[in-house]
Amino acid sequence: MKAEHQAKLRLLPAVERVLNHPEVTPLCAQFGRPVVTGWVREILARLRSGSAETLPADTAAIEAEIVRQLREVAEAAASQRLRKVINGTGIVIHTNLGRAPLAAAAVNAITEAAACTNLEVDLASGHRSQRGGTVELLCRQVTGAEAALVVNNCAAATLLTLQTLAAGRRVVISRGQLIEIGGSFRLPDVFRQAGVELHEVGTTNRTRLSDYASAIGPETAALLRVHPSNYRIAGFSESVSIAELVDLGRRRGLPVIDDVGSGCLYDLSRYGLADEPVVRESVSTGADLVLFSGDKLLGGPQCGIIVGRSELIARLRSNPLARALRVDKLTLAALEATLEIHRAGKALDEIPVLRQLTQPAEELRQRAEQLLQQLQGRSADPNQFSLREVNSAPGGGALPDQTLPSWAIAINSSSPDQFSRQLRLGEPAVFARVQENCTLVDLRTVNASDDESLIGRILQCAAG
Ligand SMILES: *Cc1c(COP(=O)(O)O)cnc(C)c1O
Repeated sequence: MKAEHQAKLRLLPAVERVLNHPEVTPLCAQFGRPVVTGWVREILARLRSGSAETLPADTAAIEAEIVRQLREVAEAAASQRLRKVINGTGIVIHTNLGRAPLAAAAVNAITEAAACTNLEVDLASGHRSQRGGTVELLCRQVTGAEAALVVNNCAAATLLTLQTLAAGRRVVISRGQLIEIGGSFRLPDVFRQAGVELHEVGTTNRTRLSDYASAIGPETAALLRVHPSNYRIAGFSESVSIAELVDLGRRRGLPVIDDVGSGCLYDLSRYGLADEPVVRESVSTGADLVLFSGDKLLGGPQCGIIVGRSELIARLRSNPLARALRVDKLTLAALEATLEIHRAGKALDEIPVLRQLTQPAEELRQRAEQLLQQLQGRSADPNQFSLREVNSAPGGGALPDQTLPSWAIAINSSSPDQFSRQLRLGEPAVFARVQENCTLVDLRTVNASDDESLIGRILQCAAG
């Protein structure tokens, strides 16, 4: 037995021989020879240490087995790269799927800015200019603020603001607002990182203006309100409005910082989406700095936007940390295009997040009917498809207790989990959800221009 195993091991090819195999040379061209060499070594080591029975009996079969394993490793490696995903989950701002899908104009702007661009130059004079100037003007126009600054995300905006205005001092905040956002963004940690002492007031469910007032002392640098985006305190609760905080701040000579989170620019309550603080209202109420994300309800690229009083924005800008947190030209290009759409009043038509959040369920039902007909017409087993009335969710830590009525394509199969996995693994990848033993694709979050590829993928998975 031992001798037989030894004999088989002698049949294992040299690394070099595998690398020159006609099916392997294209892999070397794609992934680079050093990487493929590493994979071949690992496969050979596995075969060498495995049991003798699993090893094929002749050289050609062994080589075929090595190439087969190599193809598997290469496919797995290729599937890890970032690529297009059709979002059929019904979660509009899906953090794991990259939050806000960008408007077409923003995508074009990124492509254009990818080459050389007038990032820090005034084309008229040819002289150097400040980067982000146009975007900051747009931020002012859509929010009514005096000045603006764009950084990497809202977490960065919080860090920069706290550190600039309050390092070594105290900031007062309600206990009910010490939030954790997904991805381990915990407010107390950000305070520590900024070197700011957290002065918590009130209780989890109730905080009054008098709690803030009596906390203010000589070491207090600012008052902070944070919108508890991803959860709600209901029942016996009380919180202080931004207007009351602003009034207190004015009387005591302290800046008021308002972290509104999702960057909602309009009152969306008539679409069934209440409770999101509107940036312009916070600004006009008198908050000194208002902080929000670019890739939630604003519907743009990942970034954090700080708007507010010129003198404070100037202080943030001159903090060396601002240089470390600044955004690149691609983000600026996408944000500029997104804000131009907002400024022109076309956001509900052209910004995917807002279009999806406000699309009436009846329109989705009609689209679902059409897709169902096509699926049934093109399938050998039409009965496995049906329509389902479902609920979509805003996601992105916004509006946690609200849902939107929607319609989904329901696919019956022997294993809905396996079917969903197949949908994820093809090109383009489709993310569905499994509910009541069915695979569901919620059309609210699928761009209508992807309907044809969606149907193709569903039929492909249903057939095989
Ligand atoms: C989402 C959110 C953040 C974090 O924003 P990022 O852009 O993801 O860093 C901070 N504060 C509030 C209130 C939020 O809702």
